[in-house]
Amino acid sequence: MTAVLAIADHRRGDLRDVSYELVNAGRELADETGGDLHLAVISGTVDDFADKLNREGVDAIHTVDHGEEFNHDVYTQAITQLYDELAPQYVLTPNSVNGLDYAPAVANELDLPIVTDTIDLETDGETLTATREMYGGKVETTTELEGAAVVTIRGAEWPAAEGTGDATIEAFDVDIDEDAVGSTVNGFEEVGGGDVDIGEADLLVSIGRGIEEEENLEMIRELADALDATLSSSRPIVDNGWLPKNRQVGQSGKVVTPDVYIAIGISGAVQHVAGMKGSDTIVAINTDPNAPIMDIADYAIVDDLFDVVPELIDEFQ
Ligand code: FAD
Repeated sequence: MTAVLAIADHRRGDLRDVSYELVNAGRELADETGGDLHLAVISGTVDDFADKLNREGVDAIHTVDHGEEFNHDVYTQAITQLYDELAPQYVLTPNSVNGLDYAPAVANELDLPIVTDTIDLETDGETLTATREMYGGKVETTTELEGAAVVTIRGAEWPAAEGTGDATIEAFDVDIDEDAVGSTVNGFEEVGGGDVDIGEADLLVSIGRGIEEEENLEMIRELADALDATLSSSRPIVDNGWLPKNRQVGQSGKVVTPDVYIAIGISGAVQHVAGMKGSDTIVAINTDPNAPIMDIADYAIVDDLFDVVPELIDEFQ
C-alpha cells in the first residue's frame, strides 16, 4: 500500500535540498501509516534526479518526463493521475514557490484537505496532526486532519535523507492534456543580486544592524572572501538597501541550512532565527551577552565586531 506520495522539487537543472528532506519526512509518515513511500520526479532530467533521490527509505520512484522546468498544469495533472493510480494516504510536497503553486490545485482537483508550511507531522494512519508556526515562530499550532490530505513541509525542518536506497524506478505513463496547459516557463531572470542562492551555501557570513554604516560592509565582504563564504544579512540591512533582497535570511527572507552560520551584529529576533535555526553550527559575534542569538549559538564571541572582524580577516587571509 502506498502511504505517501512525495513530489521532488528542482529548478534550473538541480534538485533542491528540500527534496532530500522530503524523503525523511515522507518515510516517517509512511512508517506511522504502515505503508510505502513513493516519490514522483516530474520534468527536467528525471532519470538523473531519480538516481540521486534513491536514498534509504524510498520504496519506489515514478518519473514523468515532460518538459524541463516546473509547469503548474503538468504537475497538477501528473500528480492527480499518480494519486488515482497509487491511492496514497498523503501527498507530500515542499512548501516552496513551486509546491505552493500546485499543491492547492492538486488538493482542489482531488477534493482533499490541505495543510501548508508544516514543521512536524504525526499520524496514527487515520488522523494527521500537523504542527505549524504562527506569528513569526512565537506560537506553534496543531491542525488535525482526518483521512487523506495534501501536506506541504517547510525546508530545513527534517534532516536530508542519506544512504543508498533500493527503490524501483519506473517511468509513469502520464496523459497530459496539452490543451489545458496554459503556461510555460521561458527562462529565469535574477532580480537584484545576481545568481547567488544563500539557501544553497555551506558557509554564510551574515551581517546585522550592528554594522552601523553601509561603508562598514566592506570589512564583512573581506571576511566572507577570506573564508570563501557567502554574504547574507538580517532584514534591516536589506531594508536600508545595502544588500539585495535575495541575501535576507529569515521569515520574510530565505531559509538557510549552512554547515556554519556566522551571525555578526545580529540580535536573533524570532523572525531572523526562523530562517537560520537549521544551521549545523552557529557562531555569534555580539557585544550583548544577553542577545537572543546567544540562546542558539554554538560558539559566541562577546565583543565589538569592529575589533573581532579585522582580527578574523588577518587570521583567515
Ligand atoms: P538588531 O535587532 O538591532 O540587533 C543588532 C545587534 O547588533 C544587537 O544584538 C547588538 O547588541 C549588536 N551590536 C551592535 N553593535 C555591535 C558591535 N559593535 N559589535 C557587535 N555587536 C553589535 N528580520 C530578519 O532578519 N529577517 C526576516 O526575514 C524578518 N522578517 C520579518 C517579518 C516580520 C513580519 C516582522 C515584523 C519582522 C521581521 N524581521 C525580520 C525583523 C526582525 O523582527 C528584527 O527587527 C531584525 O531581525 C533585527 O535585525 P538585527 O538583528 O540586524 O538588528
